[in-house]
Amino acid sequence: MFRPTRKLVDIFAVVIYLGTLTVCCGRNAGGEQVGRDGWDVPPYLPLAIGGILLLLLVGSAWWTRRRGEPVEPSWGVMLGMLILSAAVNAGCNLAMLWDIGQTSVSFFLFLAVACILWALLRRFSLLIWFPFFALEIAQIAGYYQYGTRVNSLVIAETLEASHDEVFAYLSPGNMLIAAASLIGAGIFCWLLMVVMRRVQPRLTLVNTALFFALFSLLCAVYVKPSRRNVNFFWPCYESYLLCNAWGEAIFHNQATIRQVESLPSPTVLPSSLNTLSGGEGVVLVVHIGESVRADRMSVNGYERDTTPWLRSCPRLINFSDCISAACDTCQAQIAILTDARRDVFEKDPALRPHTGSVLDLFAAHGFKVYSFFGKRNATHLKYDLVVRLLTRCDEQRFHAPGSPWTSVPQMAELLRSVPSTQNIVLFINNEGSHTPFSHYDRLHTPFQPAGSSFGKPASHALEVNNAYDSTVHYTDEFVRRVTRLLRGRPWIYLYVSDHGEYLGHDGIWGRGALGESGRSYHSTTGCRVGMFILTSPELESLHPHFAESLKELKSHADMRIGQEHIFHTLLGFFDLRTPWYNPTLDLCSPSPQPYSGPHPGKP
Ligand SMILES: [Zn+2]
Repeated sequence: MFRPTRKLVDIFAVVIYLGTLTVCCGRNAGGEQVGRDGWDVPPYLPLAIGGILLLLLVGSAWWTRRRGEPVEPSWGVMLGMLILSAAVNAGCNLAMLWDIGQTSVSFFLFLAVACILWALLRRFSLLIWFPFFALEIAQIAGYYQYGTRVNSLVIAETLEASHDEVFAYLSPGNMLIAAASLIGAGIFCWLLMVVMRRVQPRLTLVNTALFFALFSLLCAVYVKPSRRNVNFFWPCYESYLLCNAWGEAIFHNQATIRQVESLPSPTVLPSSLNTLSGGEGVVLVVHIGESVRADRMSVNGYERDTTPWLRSCPRLINFSDCISAACDTCQAQIAILTDARRDVFEKDPALRPHTGSVLDLFAAHGFKVYSFFGKRNATHLKYDLVVRLLTRCDEQRFHAPGSPWTSVPQMAELLRSVPSTQNIVLFINNEGSHTPFSHYDRLHTPFQPAGSSFGKPASHALEVNNAYDSTVHYTDEFVRRVTRLLRGRPWIYLYVSDHGEYLGHDGIWGRGALGESGRSYHSTTGCRVGMFILTSPELESLHPHFAESLKELKSHADMRIGQEHIFHTLLGFFDLRTPWYNPTLDLCSPSPQPYSGPHPGKP
C-alpha cells in the first residue's frame, strides 16, 4: 500500500503553494481598478517573494532537522499564537475596522514579525512592542474621536501645540484612553511573552516566522485587486507609516526653519522710502490671522453675521478670493512676510523666497516695530522660531496676558509711551480661530451653544461651528478695538489669515485630517482665507501716493490674489523702492498679475 513519506508531503505542499500563488498572481492581469490605498504590483513580484520565502523555509527546516531540533512548534503553542494574534489584531489594528475580510493578511503577518523579532531579540523585543501597542490602541480611540490617524501633520501639529491646546485635549476621557492604552499594551506584551517563551530553539521560531509570512502573502494575493489595501500589511506597513510621519514632521519643521534662517535680509540691498520722511506718526498694522476661512466671514457673504463691524466700515477694502500658500502656520507666515510665492517645498526656484521679512525694510526706514503675540505662541516653542526670526527687527514683543483682546490695553500703553510722531509697525499674530476655538467672548457668546472641546467634532458639529464662528466674531471686535486706539493718526491695517480650517468642509474635520482625506490643500475650499485692508483718512492726506494706491487696491479687490502679493503690496503702498520689489505682485500698481498658483477648481 502507498504510504506518503514526509518528504513527499513537503514537495506536494510546495507545488500546491506555488501553484495557488501563480494562479492568484495571474488575477492581477485583469486590470481591475485599484483604490487609492491599493497596491498594484506586477504579478511576478508576489510570486518571487513567495518563492524566496519558500526556499528559505525549506532550507531552514532542513537545517533545523539536521541539528535535531523541532522543525515547528507544538500544536498547542501554534494555537496559542493564533489566539494571541486574534487578540492583538482586535485591540490594535485599525485597518480591521475597515474591511474585516482582509484581516487574514495582518493576522499571519503579525505572527511572522513577532516570531522573527523574538528569535532575534528575545524579551528585549518587548521594548519595541510595548510603545507600538500603546500607540496603536490610542490611535484607534483617536480615530473614532477625531477622524484622523497619527500622520505627519498630526505630529507636526502636536509639536507646534501650545500649552492651552495640549490642556484642551487632556480631557478625563482622553486621560482614560491613555491609561487604557498603556494597560492594554502591557497585557499584550505579557501574552506575547507567555506564548513565545514556549518556543525554545531560535531556528524553530525562524521556521514559524517564514511559514506565517508565506501564509500572509498568500492571503494578500488572494484578495480581489479592487479590495486590496496596503494598510492590511499590519504591523509592517503601519511601522513604515509611523516612522515616515515622524521623519516628515521633523524634516518639515526643520526645512521650514532652515529656509527662514538662510534668507538674507532685504536691507542688504539699497532701498528708499519715497512717501514718508519720518515724524508723520504713521501706524502700519500687519495682522497675520489664524485659521480664518474667507467663507465664514459675513463680509464675504456668510449668512451668519460673524464680522458685523467690518461690514459697517465704509473704508474697508475686502479681498474675498485670497489663496493661502500652505496649510501650515509657519510656511504661511513665510509666504506673507517674505517674497516667497509658494510653500517651503516649492520646486521652482523662482517661486521660492529670496529674501527675508518685509518688516526689516520698514525698520530700516525709521519705523519702530512692535510684535503682539498670543498668550503662549512665539514664547519658547521650537515651532514658533519661524515667526520670531521673521520679526527679529522688532524693538519689543508682547504676549497677551489672557485671550487676544487682552493685548489691546498693552497696545494702548505702548501708543501712549511712544512719541506720537514716531512711525511704527504693530505686528499682530495671536491664536485667533485656531483649534480648539476657545478664544471668544464667553460672557456674550454670539453663537450658542458653543463648545470648544474638539473631541469628536463631527458629532458636536453645532457646538464646534458655533465656537468657530464666535472666534471670527471675536477677531472682528479685536480689529475694531485696535483701530479705535489709532483714531486721529494716519494708519493702515492689513489683515490676512495664515490658512483655513475644516469644519466638515470638503468632508474633512480639522486640519489634521486633511492628510487622511487624500486631498491636497489647494484642491479644498480651506485654502481661501480672510484678507482685508483698512486705512484712516489721515493717511490719504499725507501724500498723494496713498490715495492713488487705495484707488488701485479697491479696483483689484475682486481679483484672485495670494499671500504672495502681500510683500510687494506693502512696499508698493508706501512707495518703498528696493530691488526685491516686483510690480506685477503689487496690488497698488495699475496692472498686477492675479494669483496663478493652485487653488480649488484648478489643480
Ligand atoms: Zn495657523
